[in-house]
This record gives sequence, structure tokens and C-alpha cells, in this order.
Amino acid sequence: MSTLLVFGHQNPDTDTISSAIAYAYLLNRTGKQAEAVALGEPNEETKFALNYFQVDAPRIVSTVSNEVKQVALVDHNELQQSVSDLKEVEVTAVIDHHRIANFETANPLLYRAEPVGCTATILYKLFSEERVTIPKEIAGLMLSAIISDTLLFKSPTCTPLDVQVAKELAVIADVELEVYGLSLLKAGTNLGDKSVQELLNLDAKTFPMGQTSVRIAQVNTVDEAELLVRQQELEDAMLKENADNGYDLFVLVITNILTSASVVVVAGEPKEAIEQAFNVTLTNHTATLEGVVSRKKQVVPQLTAVLAK
Ligand code: MN
Ligand code: MN
Repeated sequence: MSTLLVFGHQNPDTDTISSAIAYAYLLNRTGKQAEAVALGEPNEETKFALNYFQVDAPRIVSTVSNEVKQVALVDHNELQQSVSDLKEVEVTAVIDHHRIANFETANPLLYRAEPVGCTATILYKLFSEERVTIPKEIAGLMLSAIISDTLLFKSPTCTPLDVQVAKELAVIADVELEVYGLSLLKAGTNLGDKSVQELLNLDAKTFPMGQTSVRIAQVNTVDEAELLVRQQELEDAMLKENADNGYDLFVLVITNILTSASVVVVAGEPKEAIEQAFNVTLTNHTATLEGVVSRKKQVVPQLTAVLAK
């Protein structure tokens, strides 16, 4: 039996890595041969979780068709967020909690999408449906994914089910939810030694919106000033990314996990789309968006509404 590779999106976050590991484990326990892989290095937050629960980071791949014929996607479906040679392999399953776009298959597949805060929440249901017990370390990673994606339940993407599942996972993982949660999120805000290039690629995704290609990067912090002192350097790098990769507009979303507000820094055009989408005025290419913490729910739809009409 050939192995199925399971992976999440480029610039992996804690949900993408944890859900790949958890889903590969579930597949292996239900008679399929699967391996979790990643499309990049785990970030600081994910490293904290892997280290805490003593799980090895998945092997990193840049292509998959050289080794397998079939793959399963977690935490994404859009082609431009996936592995570069996705079109050369068959997608047999998708477990995801994002909008569906740029995705089609030749054959029937298992597609499980639910509008919850985290892929790991859906996986928790799958484990229960398959009557597979979740081991402690996998529960710890799944819990970390929910904390990360919902910013410890503060994101508007968080549903009552995410909270309930997280509480159950915390029991299996044997951690104090709030205490562990804050340490995990803080580990992800350790940005001081990152180059601007690294900051812009920590958690960045590309979205086609009408005729405009929009790159949206998000970083979490407990002190946005620490990043804004490098604004000029960041903007120069964002313009270079636009030129090198064909993006029109680059939006950096700096999210304060303690105040639940974000500062956006914008490079490229049309900048006025940001002003229209969020009803703000840009000052020196920046604006504060109060209460905005979720790219998926509070940035992408609003910008799409302006740019794709
Ligand atoms: Mn993700
Ligand atoms: Mn996710």
C-alpha cells in the first residue's frame, strides 16, 4: 500500500502542523498508511508546542509528486496556498475550516469543511466518529492548534464547539488551559531576532481578489511598537515581495494578542481599498483596526468585498 502524505498550507502555523500530525495518526489507526509532512519550518509558537509535548516536527517537503500519487490536505484548500505540484497528485481528502476557492478534483474525495475556529476541532469529531482514542501528545498539539487559531478563544472565528473541544483536550493533555495557552501564544510573539523577510513570511497567504493579487501577512505581538520601529524596512521589503512575486497589494497585520486590536501596514496599490474596507484613514501607510484579530473573518471578506466587485 502506498503512503498518503498529509500536509497543511505554506508558511505553516500551529493548526497546520498539528492537524497534519493528528490526521496522519488517525489514518494510520484506521488502516491507511499516512505520513504528516510540512511545507516549511514550524514557527516559534509551533516549536514551543512540539517541544512541550515532545513530538518531532514533520519532515519538510517542497514537492510531493516525486514520492506519492495521493495526498490529504488539512487547514487549507486553495491551490496557491498548497504544495507547488498539487496538480500532479490526487487529493483524496480535505479537512478544513476556510472558504473554498481555486479547488477542484477529477475524482470523488472526502471533503470535510466546517465553519469552526480550527481544523483540530473538526479532527476531534473525526476521532470520535472513528472511535479512536486521542493520545496525550496528539491531544496537546490539537489543543495548541485551537488556542493558536482562536487566540485563546478571543477571535470571532471561535465557536462554542472550539471551546468545548479545547477543554476536553486540555484534560487529556493534562495541562491548565489558560496557563498553557498564554505561554504558547507568548512563545509566538518572540520576534525580536527575526529579519523583516522572516517576519513577512511567518504567516503569509496570497488571495486573488478580482483582478488584484493581495498578500496578507499576520504577526502576533504583545507590543506593536517593537515592530513599528522597523516600519520603513518592512515597507521596503513588502514592495520588493510585490515586485518579485506579482502581488499588487501587501498588507501586514500586526495583531496585539492582549488588546485584541491590529495595526495594518500597507504597501502597493490600491491602498484606498484598505480605507474603504475598514472605514479608516491611512496615516503614513498604517491604520489601527480595533477589535480585528482574524484575517479569515475580519480582513479577507471585507477586502474581497471592495476589490472583487
Ligand atoms: Mn492555518
Ligand atoms: Mn486553521
